[in-house]
Amino acid sequence: MKDIIQLHDRHFKVMITAEEIDRAVEAVAERLNADYADCDTPIFLGVLNGSFMFLSDLIKKIEFNNEITFVKLASYEGTSSTGAVKNLIGLNSSIEGRHIVIVEDIVDTGGSIQHMVELLKAQNPASVEVCTLFFKPASYSKQIPIKYRALEIGNEFIVGYGLDYDQLGRSLKDIYVVSE
Ligand code: 5GP
Ligand code: MG
Repeated sequence: MKDIIQLHDRHFKVMITAEEIDRAVEAVAERLNADYADCDTPIFLGVLNGSFMFLSDLIKKIEFNNEITFVKLASYEGTSSTGAVKNLIGLNSSIEGRHIVIVEDIVDTGGSIQHMVELLKAQNPASVEVCTLFFKPASYSKQIPIKYRALEIGNEFIVGYGLDYDQLGRSLKDIYVVSE
């Protein structure tokens, strides 16, 4: 593990080690295993790109039958006066009557996740819960409950383990924070 790394113009230092991440993922998986033990085949919905590493580690610790799908919120130019709106892409089969667990890398203000939950609920799933690797409680300003949070952090900007700084840093196995 390198202590200080450079991505683009900034230097970053280790904040959370791979071992600490693994313990937090284990704890959240245990809660999911207890809560979904009696549910009929829940669908894990990974939000690309940031959640790929979290979901791949989490799912290996899941003990109930499940399906996995990846989705993405993509901007497109809407015709409304509010301008760009975000569209959910990648969901090609019906989720009506299904139990959905959204898997996110990080919930910050909550804007993205709130929008995604609204889009999904319009399709009448049996339930929708959010499972996020990181949660920023000081920044969160929405009402929807974020039931599963592996780790909580302050308002610092982090990279690694799927999270990027302008596309760099996703492959790092530890979490890094800006060092100056
Ligand atoms: P929200 O809509 O909750 O404010 O923002 C969520 C999105 O902002 C995340 O999916 C992520 O793309 C980005 N984001 C928020 N905080 C961080 C951070 O500390 N590091 C990185 N790499 N992305 C972040
Ligand atoms: Mg994200």
